[in-house]
Parts: sequence; C-alpha cells; structure tokens
Amino acid sequence: MRYLIFVLIIFICFSSEAQQVEYVDFKTVNARLVIVPDSTKVSGKVKYSFEILENIDSIYIDAINMKFKDVLLNDKKIEFINDLKKVWFKSKFRKNVTYSLTFNYVAYPKKAMYFVKRNEDWQIWTQGQGKFTSNWLPSIDDTNDKIEFDFSIVNYADYKVIANGKLIKREGAVNISQWHFNMQKPMSSYLVALAIGKYDKKEITSKSGIPLELYYYPEDSAKVEPTYRYTKQMFDFLEEEIGVPFPWQNYKQVPVKDFLYSGMENTSLTIFSDDFMIDKTSFVDKNYVNVNAHELAHQWFGDFVTATEGKHHWLQEGFATYYALLAERDIFGEDYYYNRLYEYAKQLIVQEQEDKATALLDPKASSITFYKKGAWALHVLKERVGEQVFKKAVINYLNKHAYKNVETNDFISEVEKISGQDLSDFEKDWLLSKELPISKMRATLKKNESIAFLETIEHTPYLSYRTDKNGFIPSSLVHELPKGFYIERLAVLSEALKKPDYPTYKDLIEEAFNSKEIKIRQLLAKHSPDGFKKESETLLLDASYTTIEIALSNLWSKFPKDRAKYLDATKDVVGFNDKNVRTLWLALALLTPEYNSGFNTVYIKELSDYTSSKYSFQTRQNAFSFINNLQIFNIETLINLIDATAHHNWRFKSFARDLLKSLSEEEKYKEIIANLQEQLKEQ
Ligand SMILES: [Zn+2]
Repeated sequence: MRYLIFVLIIFICFSSEAQQVEYVDFKTVNARLVIVPDSTKVSGKVKYSFEILENIDSIYIDAINMKFKDVLLNDKKIEFINDLKKVWFKSKFRKNVTYSLTFNYVAYPKKAMYFVKRNEDWQIWTQGQGKFTSNWLPSIDDTNDKIEFDFSIVNYADYKVIANGKLIKREGAVNISQWHFNMQKPMSSYLVALAIGKYDKKEITSKSGIPLELYYYPEDSAKVEPTYRYTKQMFDFLEEEIGVPFPWQNYKQVPVKDFLYSGMENTSLTIFSDDFMIDKTSFVDKNYVNVNAHELAHQWFGDFVTATEGKHHWLQEGFATYYALLAERDIFGEDYYYNRLYEYAKQLIVQEQEDKATALLDPKASSITFYKKGAWALHVLKERVGEQVFKKAVINYLNKHAYKNVETNDFISEVEKISGQDLSDFEKDWLLSKELPISKMRATLKKNESIAFLETIEHTPYLSYRTDKNGFIPSSLVHELPKGFYIERLAVLSEALKKPDYPTYKDLIEEAFNSKEIKIRQLLAKHSPDGFKKESETLLLDASYTTIEIALSNLWSKFPKDRAKYLDATKDVVGFNDKNVRTLWLALALLTPEYNSGFNTVYIKELSDYTSSKYSFQTRQNAFSFINNLQIFNIETLINLIDATAHHNWRFKSFARDLLKSLSEEEKYKEIIANLQEQLKEQ
C-alpha cells in the first residue's frame, strides 16, 4: 500500500507532462558490466552523477524488469521504489547541487540486447533506438538528456568487446577480460551500444587522423575490401563537405548476425547486418556503400545534434540520406546522384497517389517522407541559397548546438540569417505541406542533361517515359536514350520485351544482350526472350548472383530438356549470404528426376539444414520457402519452424508464424505440429 501511495505522489509531481530533464541533468555514468551469454544475463555496478536544476523530492531512472540493490546517494543508503519500468529515488534534492548515485543491478533483457548464437560462438549486440537501452542498462530514455557514458565490460577472454568511445585498457585474467572504454562527450541513451563476438579488425586512419576500425569475422578477410569499399573516401569527403570535424574519438563498424535493420548509427560505433559482409561478386547487386555513408552522416546529424522529438526526425534521417547521397555522388558521379533523386521522387509520387503522403514535420510521417522528402528538401534548399551559404549555415547550426538537441527552426533560422532570405515559402512547400511541389522537383531534375532529355519526349503527367502514344519503341537503348538515365532505359526495354512482333524488337534485344549493364541483363534474364536461347544461357555465367538466380529459374522452366545442363552449370554457385542460388539450385535439382536422383536425400538434408538457427534468418527464410513449395517438411524442419516463430526479428517471426499457421491447417501436418508444440512446451 505504501508503495502505491508513493507511486501516486510521484505521478502527480510529474503530471502535465513535465519532463524530468527540466529538473535533473544527468552528467556522467560509469558502468561496470558483467555479461553472461549462457544465461542471457547482465549485471552491473553503476555510478551516475547528476545536477539538480530545481528543488525536487524524487528522481527516476528508466530500468525495465531489473533488480536493484546497494543503492547509495552520495555514499549513503537511500530509499528507492522499483516499479519495473522506472526506479524512483526519494530524497530532498536541492537546486544547483551535484549528486552521485550508485547501485548494483541485474537484468535478463528481452529486447534491446540480443544474445545470438553464431556457429558455436555467442554474439551479443544491442539496438537502442526504438527498443530502449533501459532494457539492459538503467538509463534515461528521454533523448533530451545527454550523458557521458564510460563502460567497463567483463566477458570471456576469447571474445572481442566493442563499445562507444575509445578502448583505454584491456585487463586479462585466464578466461576473463575486462575492457575499459572512455567517452569524452555526452550522447542520448538510444545511441549507447556494444557488440561482443569473435572478430578481427582492419584499422585505417582518416585524412584528419581519426582511427577507423573495420570489424569482420575471422574467416571473412576476403570480404573486407568489397564490404568496406570507399570507407575512407566517404569519411574524408563527409568531414570536408559538412565542414565540421568528426565529433568523436574514433569510428568503428561491426557486422552482426540477424540484425533488426540495415544499420544503426550508435555513437562512434555503427552496427550493421552481416548480410552486407559481402564477397566481390555480391558488390554489384548488394553492397554496404549507401548504408555505410548514411550511418556515418548520422554521427553528425543525430548523434552530435539530436532532434528534441519525433516532429523533427527529418533533421536526422533527411540529413543522413542527403549527405549519403552526396558521398555517393563523389564516388559514382552526377548521373548517379540525379537518378537517385529521380527514384526518390517517384517513390514519393506513388506514396502521394496512394494517399499516404504527410508533411515532413508530421511525427507520424513514413520513412519515405522522413528520408527521401527530407533529402529532397535539402537538395532544393541548397540550390536556392547556394552551396557556400548552405555549408556555412550547416556549420553554424552544428557548432551552435554541439552535443545538444535541436529543432527544425534551429537549422532554418541559420540558413535565413546567412542567406538574408525569408524561407517561409520553402517551409510551406517542403516542411508543412502534404503535397509534393512536383513542378519544382521537375525543374531541378532538368539540370541533369539525361533527365532533361525527358522533357522533349514526355507524354505522361509523371516523371516517366515509356513509349509514345502510338506504342513507338526506340530501336536503340544507347543512341536514343541518354546514357546516364538507366531507369528509363530499363523501362523501354521492359516495354519492348512485351512486344515480340514489334519491328525494332530484334535489334533492341540484341543490343541489350551485348550490354554489360547489370540491370539490363537481369531484365533479360527475367524474360528470356523468344529466339534468344543461346544468348539467355550466357546469363548463367554472369558475375552477379541475382542474374544467375533469375536466369537459372527461368531457363529451367522454359527449356525442360536442358534442365540437367543448367543445373550442372550452376552447381558450385552459393550466391549471397542468404544462399539465394544454392537454395534455388537444391529445389530445382529435387524437381528434376533425371538429374542425380540418387542424391535426393543428400539434397533434402542440405536444404533442411539451412532452416536451423545456425544460419542467418535470411538463409532460413529462403530454405523454408523452398521446402514449403516442395512440401517436404520433416520433423527437423518443423521444429526449426516452430523455433523461428519466436525469433527476435519481427519480419522473420511473422513469416514463420504465417507459414506455421497455414501448415497447421493442412491434414498432412496438423497432428504432427500439434504434438511437437506440446512436446516443446513440456521441455
Ligand atoms: Zn538513418
């Protein structure tokens, strides 16, 4: 009862949405953490120091489902209440006084910290944004309270520990190591991170002297170059382009298994999906360049200055998308840049057609809006005020709010001040209005030569060109369509492939087969056009796992007599990390009775094995899909499927749940699944 009354009083104190950050400023935290993977347990001794801004009777720290003991305020015992979401500390806190609070805690985090098995080893990694660091570390979830975090982390000696800041010391005992990290500047708690696992690293240094650490699995040394290609160039470019030195002591990038997103820009420590840890063939279809640049740009836009609330989220995502695009323009050129802007425009137009458009300053805006409309807004703004004014405004904006929080007006007012322009119409068009200023977008795209070409042949109200009203298809992709404009070349080819009786068809397809452009060849693989069998077969030898996958699948369907030949030609190709080619190959081999039928059990075993948690969820999903198509589930794969329904990645989890549900409705599996679920429950 006392507990209830106390909680009630606190809630009254903090009602009317008064933020704790107005009363208390948490300054530093020192945390010594012991992480025990086998029991998915974190325990720690933590010391916070904080300053009181207004007299107050209680303060809190966010801590989800944790146990606390030995709680001391300025080294004296203090009363506390743990409601399993927050821990409240009661005392007569006095204005302008700095306090220290220490405690021990234990947590078994259900999210935000993940314990993943990779081969026989553990991998532990965190994801704060959207999940809340307070699931594994007692901390302040409010992004407006920036704290300097210093960690000491204890773990097995044969594992590497990577955390925010600089490694200052590693102490080793026989089986155990303690890693000490130091941060010099404060950050929001959603950017706190650590990654633990078996890693090697490559170290390079930026032009400005910042150490860049590129982590990889010990067996992946051949993947380091293609994965991290252009890292130094992009880092040097962004420091120069933004005009403010990199705000942290070092920069580390770590791939992890079964990550929730593509990448996450934790302060000085980007964690990314190991699906991007690629070999050199994968680079053309799936590479880390854009994610690499995007997360790096966040080190300024998001980490150095952080939006006060969701309404200003574009200050993070719009800026990171825009600066990533500038870094890519530096590598891939002007045409690439404009083609991407054009693609973003198309996606935004589709969103508007589907009536899903929102203003950029709407906290509920979609990712497309925050990222792509945000990037567009910055592109247009820079064109309007000029490169130098824009850069100066960004420098002032960043420096003025360094290591603090920002709102949209903090940026706009800087641009207005330096340009001497009133930007209210820009704000109306780009920040406040739901509708896209399409005519203005067209005008800017026309500055690129190849896109300007559209204007002369355009017939549709949108930004695209296919054929004219008579169904005319150009006879040459190269001569009649500008080189830089690859999206439209694809669209034209796609139209042509639908019209085999069209007079220019043969010339156009022949030209396309002679093309080295990867997307063109993938389009051909998808259609295997009539009369071009021999040419289509050459696609099986392309240095692209996507092309090979598409070509194998289509050729196998279209030419039944040659199935064995196609399987032989691709029997050694594995494909991307998700084994796209290998899993397809196994399924097709099983469907081809005349091909190595003596090996069917071996093939089934291999495909089944890929559904186990030893493999990434992407590989497992591919394997489950083929096993489902072939209807060859067995006890092992059904157990793996049940296991997958509890996976931490929600996309994979919902895929597994849907599949299990539909199998449970089939006579063939109904009873087996029910029995297995019963048995697993008992275990
Ligand atoms: Zn981002």
